[in-house]
Amino acid sequence: MDGASALTCAPILILLGPPGAGKGTQARMLQERFGLVQLSTGDLLRAAVAAGTEAGRAAEQVMKAGGLVSDEIVLAVLTERLAQDDCARGVVLDGFPRTTAQAEALDAMLAAGGQRISAVISLDVDAARMVQRVAGRFTCGGCGEGYHDDFKPTRTPGICDACGSEEMTRRTDDTARTAMARLDAYAAETAPLIDYYDRSGTLSRVDAMGAIDRIAADIARLVNGA
Ligand code: AMP
Repeated sequence: MDGASALTCAPILILLGPPGAGKGTQARMLQERFGLVQLSTGDLLRAAVAAGTEAGRAAEQVMKAGGLVSDEIVLAVLTERLAQDDCARGVVLDGFPRTTAQAEALDAMLAAGGQRISAVISLDVDAARMVQRVAGRFTCGGCGEGYHDDFKPTRTPGICDACGSEEMTRRTDDTARTAMARLDAYAAETAPLIDYYDRSGTLSRVDAMGAIDRIAADIARLVNGA
């Protein structure tokens, strides 16, 4: 079966994987294909930083250094977003949970509402190659198309292939130094969640080193079976 019709009740999916594994790309594809809401705690926190909220001010320096924002702040921004009506369609969590405390808080939150996680998909990559992947990323500010200095440059420098915009943006934490710190944080705090979800029987693993469309097809098969 294919598309949204395969999903009978609002699914809650989690994409796990280190920075650069392709969580954002795959979450956006799941959003389009299954009508799920992509919920990226990184995006929520960047929006809070841009808006200068209390949470944003507290998170800004930690994010710049590549560390993890406190569970309290992350849970507050996520809970607020989850309460919005569109999330009833089902969500794909991208970049959350990142600590065991966040995973336990999510379990408790869902249990209280009579819900549970549909699937946790671990995007398996060679972590040593992720610094290079992350350090060269940039995005078109016009349409959101993603590029990379080495692996996927624009055909004409500075101009988006997809929409012609000249407005390219780079995340301030997509530098080699910060990427290394983010990978360390992943190894120390987030990688243990693979075992956590394996024990609960919700984990599936996908080889995420190959072509984006093949990875998306593997994920879609898992979602249809969830
Ligand atoms: P991302 O866009 O997922 O790469 O996240 C960017 C940054 O936001 C991370 O390096 C962290 O500083 C922070 N962040 C995002 N999600 C979380 C989370 N679930 N827990 C703690 N920090 C987070």
